[in-house]
Amino acid sequence: MSDSFKDYEELIAKYKEYSVLGSVTGLLHWDMQAMMPHKGIERRTDQLSLLSGMMHKMLTSEQIGELLDKLDSSSNTLTEEMRANVREIRHDYQKATKIPVELVEEMSREQSLCHEVWVKAREAADFQLFAPNLEKVVKLVAKMAEYLGYKDTPLDALIDQFEPDATTAMFTKLFDDVKAANVPLLKKILASPVKAKRDFLKTEYPPELQKQIGLDIMKQIGFDMEAGRLDTSVHPFCAGGTGDVRITTRYNPHAPQQAIFGIIHESGHAMYEQGVNRDFWGTPLAEALSYGIHESQSRLWENFVGRGRPFWKHFLPKLQSTFGTQLAGVKLDDFMLAINHVEQSPVRVEADELTYDLHIILRFEIERDLFAGKISISDLPKVWNSKMEEYLGITPANDGKEGVMQDVHWSGGSFGYFPSYSLGNMAAGQFWFAMQTAIPNMDAKMESGDFSDILHWLRENVHLHGRRFKRDELMQRATGKPLGTASYIKYLSDKYSALYKL
Ligand code: ZN
Repeated sequence: MSDSFKDYEELIAKYKEYSVLGSVTGLLHWDMQAMMPHKGIERRTDQLSLLSGMMHKMLTSEQIGELLDKLDSSSNTLTEEMRANVREIRHDYQKATKIPVELVEEMSREQSLCHEVWVKAREAADFQLFAPNLEKVVKLVAKMAEYLGYKDTPLDALIDQFEPDATTAMFTKLFDDVKAANVPLLKKILASPVKAKRDFLKTEYPPELQKQIGLDIMKQIGFDMEAGRLDTSVHPFCAGGTGDVRITTRYNPHAPQQAIFGIIHESGHAMYEQGVNRDFWGTPLAEALSYGIHESQSRLWENFVGRGRPFWKHFLPKLQSTFGTQLAGVKLDDFMLAINHVEQSPVRVEADELTYDLHIILRFEIERDLFAGKISISDLPKVWNSKMEEYLGITPANDGKEGVMQDVHWSGGSFGYFPSYSLGNMAAGQFWFAMQTAIPNMDAKMESGDFSDILHWLRENVHLHGRRFKRDELMQRATGKPLGTASYIKYLSDKYSALYKL
């Protein structure tokens, strides 16, 4: 065995220990939200902070640094897959070693304080209360960006944490296209005489029956029940990997669509994790590529498949027989309109498929202008409301739950995170058209309840590669072109023109 192979094996062994601890952390997080009695929180915080300190030390250890240095000069003797693993571990190592520990600690203190104030200020809809703490967090985040390094603007460094190789300029261009298409499309939909009837979704839907249909759908779209499970939590999420992926949802008896689409969404995340190459478990080649690509999987299943007509042609009769009277006599056309109803909601987490991106674009533009020094913290409520008016045609009733303080992200210093959600939509749009070319009679298969070709296509083109390729290379291989907006815009236009008879 040559030296570089030995170094590689050693590096992978170290990284696997780090991955194992990561999976323990994931399980503790799942337990905290789905199972733990609330008095367990103090112990759990101790456990999690000890683990995160250990993980940071492992990843930034001198040994990993030395092995990476050695492999740097001799890596040409490794296979292409091994080189990809070395490249990705180096990326994580550099990111983790660039920021001084003192800054991480200061950040964590300020985040906790800011979060506490945010909860109160949001409740009271008092932005002035929140502003001083937010200002501190933004300054610290900007400092972190300096350590991380960037070309054009500090926001580039922040975006890169969630979406490697994406930039502010790239998102500006993509979002300008989406905005130019979606704002007029929304206006046309609002002016359409076609209106959704939604009363039948507001009657009583027992949670145990919602869970039963949710489990049926999960199994049928390809979630491996022997490698995962479904539980309940206040905020739905997906945790874990490969042989053990946990998803959660919550049940609203008067809005069954929330749990059903929540389950399909989280199943999309979970099937990505279940579909990575097991031979590489514990290495970057068996990790998801980025937040945005993860989101492409959940959104493709939730919206492109799960809110589509072929899907419900198959599942609506099942839903009707599961629930009985609530959906008796509801026609497929009316059901489709009800679950795809478009409205001007000021709240992102309640937004429909079409307006969701406008919420993201608004946040991205504010972050962009904030880090470019074009606006200041005190301008946020004003800028927020005027963009809401421009893109969605509404003015939020307050700066709290309906307005600028509705999301938790900024109080926790998560700037640069939002664009990943929309990147997921655009990537999903491109995958969607590519798989339709590759899969004959895709609609007819969905109508008969067969989703195996879709999952297979995603496995082959996305899941099995993990972090082997960079985003644009993955998109190029899977769809024949780098990430763009054309497919996604066409998908939305086709879908809503048919629904609203535009
Ligand atoms: Zn998601």
